[in-house]
Amino acid sequence: MWCADWTDGAEWLERIEVEDTSVGTRETLPAAALIVLIGAEPHTDWLAGMVLLDRSGYIITGPELSPGTRHQSPWTGRHHDPYLLETSLPGVFAAGDVRSGSVKRAAAAVGEGSIAIRFVSEHLGRRAGFAAPAPAGLRPA
Ligand SMILES: Cc1cc2nc3c(=O)[nH]c(=O)nc-3n(C[C@H](O)[C@H](O)[C@H](O)COP(=O)(O)OP(=O)(O)OC[C@H]3O[C@@H](n4cnc5c(N)ncnc54)[C@H](O)[C@@H]3O)c2cc1C
Repeated sequence: MWCADWTDGAEWLERIEVEDTSVGTRETLPAAALIVLIGAEPHTDWLAGMVLLDRSGYIITGPELSPGTRHQSPWTGRHHDPYLLETSLPGVFAAGDVRSGSVKRAAAAVGEGSIAIRFVSEHLGRRAGFAAPAPAGLRPA
């Protein structure tokens, strides 16, 4: 991981010192601007092997799961495809920034959370044998 340690310049930014924190080496680079980008990593290492992740570590859900995934364990014998926000593990749902392909906006994350709750309710209903249908447009094929 690279870390900006200090910035320098007479009247405006001219240099920046960066450190590679994995090995501790530092170097000074010419720079005219510094843009901070934070919050762009999903931190889902602990989920690897439990639910499918995309190449960047975001959780794959619903239609983004490949047909191959949907037709093998633990989906075999189930009578529906994964719901829109359902992960590769039936009954586990993902919403918000951590979901692969999500919009990465606050309102979208809140909206997805409210939709996920509806699917959780339906999932539990199915298990108990009294499934209420998902809202039109949110039903899996
Ligand atoms: C710099 C920046 C600016 C942004 N500006 C805007 C903007 O102007 N407008 C806008 O709409 N959106 C903006 N966004 C995006 C917005 O912040 C996100 O879309 C929104 O916060 C996503 O909500 P979330 O609940 O999915 O995830 P988060 O808000 O990231 O919440 C996830 C939470 O889970 C916690 N967590 C992570 N791992 C674990 C774990 N293992 N156990 C327990 N808790 C855990 C985290 O600490 C965090 O509190 C911005 C984002 C960034 C980074």
